[in-house]
Amino acid sequence: MILFIFLFLLGGLIAIANANPWENVTSPSKGSEQSIGSYANGCLSGAEALPLNGVGYQVIRSSRHRYYAHPDMVAYLKKLASKTQGFGLDDLMIADISMPRGGNFTSGHSSHQTGLDADIWLSFAPETLTRERLESPTAVSVVDLKSYSLRRDSWMDDHAILFQVAASEPEVARIFVHPVIKETLCGMEWEDRAWLRKVRPWWGHHYHMHVRLHCPDGSQECVPQNVIPAGDGCGSELMSWRPKPDDGKKNKETVKKKRVKVKPSECQIVLTQ
Ligand SMILES: [Zn+2]
Repeated sequence: MILFIFLFLLGGLIAIANANPWENVTSPSKGSEQSIGSYANGCLSGAEALPLNGVGYQVIRSSRHRYYAHPDMVAYLKKLASKTQGFGLDDLMIADISMPRGGNFTSGHSSHQTGLDADIWLSFAPETLTRERLESPTAVSVVDLKSYSLRRDSWMDDHAILFQVAASEPEVARIFVHPVIKETLCGMEWEDRAWLRKVRPWWGHHYHMHVRLHCPDGSQECVPQNVIPAGDGCGSELMSWRPKPDDGKKNKETVKKKRVKVKPSECQIVLTQ
């Protein structure tokens, strides 16, 4: 009887461990560098690990093993951080990119599956953070969610510089920010406003921004997102995000239940390589 209970518990543990195979792999696949599928349903072959410390940045929460990326993303983040350091900004805090072979996280956001999405926090690191601080960093929100307005006490010119430098690189497809941040950037004077088009409003991004790169050359199975509408996105489209008096639901940061999606067949190979 005791043996039976033991085997039953062991079976349960194995089932939990194998629930999401993408979270169980600890190393990149051996294949060539390929982003496969779409940002929210795909995987990553031949990933590169972003070094945990580099010029102008520090990787936070590395115990989650989400610092793997397509080599294009690694190159982009290094370039961005060295540029922002050049502008006098403190170190960027780089959070989730992708797991060693991409795929879906069990909890949290549904994208970040192909090594082309990266979260950068809106708090900066003025000094080299200790291991403990890196594992549980302090999040700073620049939006007062209740009043749908900018938190002037936490917003800095450095944020505006960061968004402009980050969005101006040609390999960037989109940058997701809270609509209040987009409104703020729209209201500022810029010599060139073309980069504003790539800054897209989306709920949740008030303490971090999310950078998404275009499908890299050579990733034949990478599925791009629709082209962004023309213009800087500062007009009526942006106003439609503002909460309406009778709209209690829309402004709530709701978490949708995830659907189980079938991955591209190439991802099965990535998992076993
Ligand atoms: Zn993200």
